[in-house]
Amino acid sequence: MPRLVMKFGGTSVANLDRIRRVAKRVGVEVAKGYDVIVVVSAMSGKTNELVGWVGETGAFYDAREYDAVVSSGENVTAGLLALTLQENGIDARSWQGWQVPVQTNSSHSSARIAAIPSDNLDAKFAGGMRVAVVAGFQGISPEGRITTLGRGGSDTTAVAFAAAFDAERCDIYTDVDGVYTTDPRITSKARKLDRIAFEEMLELASLGAKVLQTRSVELAMRYKVKLRVLSSFEEMSDDAGTLVCDEEDIMESNVVAGVAFSRDEAKMTLVSVADRPGVSAAIFGPLAEAGVNVDMIVQNIAEDGRTDMTFSLPVDQVARAEKAVRDAMARAEINFHDLIADEGVSKVSVVGIGMRSHAGVAARMFKALSAEGINIKVITTSEIKISVLIDRKYMELAVQALHDAFELEKV
Ligand code: ADP
Ligand code: ASP
Ligand code: MG
Repeated sequence: MPRLVMKFGGTSVANLDRIRRVAKRVGVEVAKGYDVIVVVSAMSGKTNELVGWVGETGAFYDAREYDAVVSSGENVTAGLLALTLQENGIDARSWQGWQVPVQTNSSHSSARIAAIPSDNLDAKFAGGMRVAVVAGFQGISPEGRITTLGRGGSDTTAVAFAAAFDAERCDIYTDVDGVYTTDPRITSKARKLDRIAFEEMLELASLGAKVLQTRSVELAMRYKVKLRVLSSFEEMSDDAGTLVCDEEDIMESNVVAGVAFSRDEAKMTLVSVADRPGVSAAIFGPLAEAGVNVDMIVQNIAEDGRTDMTFSLPVDQVARAEKAVRDAMARAEINFHDLIADEGVSKVSVVGIGMRSHAGVAARMFKALSAEGINIKVITTSEIKISVLIDRKYMELAVQALHDAFELEKV
């Protein structure tokens, strides 16, 4: 029988009533003749609560136990949905990550899926099971410990199953009816896109649009999974939502497809660093070893053999970053006069494959920001995106101004 993967996020399984509605949707696809793999998240708010409890046990907790605790929300929803489907007369069974097994590497709290052997589920489907309800976000390491895939990781579970089981489609059901030109919570002018190219979705996700986890888009692109984002609260239809697809399958698109943002960023400057070959490696090597995700980097003009080095990072990694560079200074690997951390910045980005062939996007972006009196602190560009770092208090205003400037409300 053809197979389908359906993924339901936290708000879609927030209580038993919603789980019953999910079961109905799954029942519709089963009645069409699909064998269905349903991937579920924890009830909304649950994972945050679990993360909070782990944090309260101490600052330097064991990452293996973090995963043991934080993965548990998905076990509850998987079991409850299987029970509800059984109530509806559907042959359904729940599967935790280790039972499938979803094999991952050992990077606890941000593990990557290595393989999903299909034998276990295949045998059950052959024996009459119609729905496998899989707990998203979790797997098992080579050492036999439970792992999790990073926040939002159930999307990645879903796409990985679609690839491993050769599913006809991977439907990501969520609380919005598709991918928008920007987060609809920031501006009511945000417009739903019928289609978006993999490359654009990949950039939007990695620049902060949390509607899909970045890794899920990467996997869909690599394994050619037909990926759709749609609402679990609206009527079902075959052309609902947004299809994430190849660039060639999109007839016409705007130069800029969307605006993404990442609210909680920080900017760190090492003042007056000796400017000599190898200095960047001496700074960013220890930061990488400390697990700091450095994003934008700017080196100022050197004067008298010294220079300022500025970089951005997630705000919750500032303490770790500061320790890493101060330790490097103590080891006499680097030398700087001062360290300034600005914990009040956000990153706002415009993304579009049309930028490859259109000049002037950057100028238009900077003009729109300056018209609102927003100062740009750092800029980075790539072939299909431009990102700026600005004061956090202007983040919403910047997103709205850019949405207007690129006329994203229009097709
Ligand atoms: P789920 O719990 O279903 O995984 P998430 O909260 O992870 O849902 O993702 C859905 C949310 O992503 C939406 O409610 C929306 O606020 C946010 N979002 C951010 N950027 C976008 C965008 N460009 N298009 C649609 N939603 C977006
Ligand atoms: N429950 C996990 C989280 O909140 C995984 C997910 O929802 O995708 O991050
Ligand atoms: Mg999500």
